[in-house]
Amino acid sequence: MKFRTRAIHVGSEPDPATGAVVPPIYLATTYVQPGAGTWGAFDYSRSGSPTRAGVERTLADLEGGCGALAFSSGMAAIHGATMLLRSGDHIVAGSDIYGGAYRLLHKICNRSGISVSLTPVNDLKQFEAAMRPNTKMVWVESIGNPLMSIPDLPAIAEIAHRHGAWLGVDSTFTSPAIMRPLELGADIVMHSATKYLGGHSDCLAGVLATKDPELHKELYFIQNATGAVLAGLECFLLQRGIKTLDLRMKEQSQAALEIAQWLETHPLVSRVLYPGLESHPQHDLAKRLMGDRFGAVVSFEIRGDFAQTKKVCESTKLFGLAVSLGAVESLIEQPASMSHASYDAAARAKFGIVDSLIRISVGLEDIEDLKADIDQALHIACT
Ligand SMILES: *Cc1c(COP(=O)(O)O)cnc(C)c1O
Repeated sequence: MKFRTRAIHVGSEPDPATGAVVPPIYLATTYVQPGAGTWGAFDYSRSGSPTRAGVERTLADLEGGCGALAFSSGMAAIHGATMLLRSGDHIVAGSDIYGGAYRLLHKICNRSGISVSLTPVNDLKQFEAAMRPNTKMVWVESIGNPLMSIPDLPAIAEIAHRHGAWLGVDSTFTSPAIMRPLELGADIVMHSATKYLGGHSDCLAGVLATKDPELHKELYFIQNATGAVLAGLECFLLQRGIKTLDLRMKEQSQAALEIAQWLETHPLVSRVLYPGLESHPQHDLAKRLMGDRFGAVVSFEIRGDFAQTKKVCESTKLFGLAVSLGAVESLIEQPASMSHASYDAAARAKFGIVDSLIRISVGLEDIEDLKADIDQALHIACT
């Protein structure tokens, strides 16, 4: 069956007990056992529940994995993956990663003796040079954030594996409706399901999926031992969101491309970063990995300073001033003061996260309304 069909039916079969087309939400935390010391399918909801098992089956199927795990947030999922490592191990990560991932790697993982090097993902030579004998994991985002760099996943997988490291890919910005990293060489794919997978700004969730049963078992052990599992209602909301994922990604990618093309012609905009644009330095690679959809996040630099950039973000009426992305409602933010404020100023400067950079997430509103809203905000702030 095709992707769109599987997104609707796999893991969401009618309830065998009642025939309900939408399976119920199991809220039970504990399950009676057939005998002392013998176990049924479920025993305690940290270890698993029918509701979580359903959405995990959907996610594994859509990612082409042998299993998936639903976490209480995207950060909990990334943390789960880093717990595969031990003191003395080293991580090579892409340099324009999510601010929260930067913080986790630099301010939490370091407490367990795990070190991190950041490397631009679009330079394979630097990537190779960053690998050390103790590098156990390479961590990149399918589309870098906020600079929209694209990692050549098959090439980076080859480098990681040659050095005996796992490749983990945060695929939040693409979702399985655009790209499936496990098919491109990744060992672990991770999502902040809070974004496109849930899609409606009402469900905080994270995912890890793998194609190696041993690795899946180890990650399940970590998740059950540490407890950051996704609760029943959130599993249900995530399952519901996934049913329209393909439809939303198609529409939102198309709208984002049109807005990016329009921004390129705007006199108050100096640069637009979007993998779907011919002007994107890695457009050909993006097409090879993603096909004809490039996601709904667009970054652009305005002809203005820090204060004017802030003013643009505060002057839109339709675009909400907020750090998230991937939902039906459009959002706008200034990375330097918002999503990437947890990078220190020197790191921002080094990696090109300039003060005049704006990031938008294009939702499902009418595209003419969205363009008009950005246009009036640019004129308020910059003229
Ligand atoms: C939001 C986000 C995260 C963190 O996920 P939460 O669900 O907010 O914990 C990680 N990576 C990327 C790319 C994100 O956008």
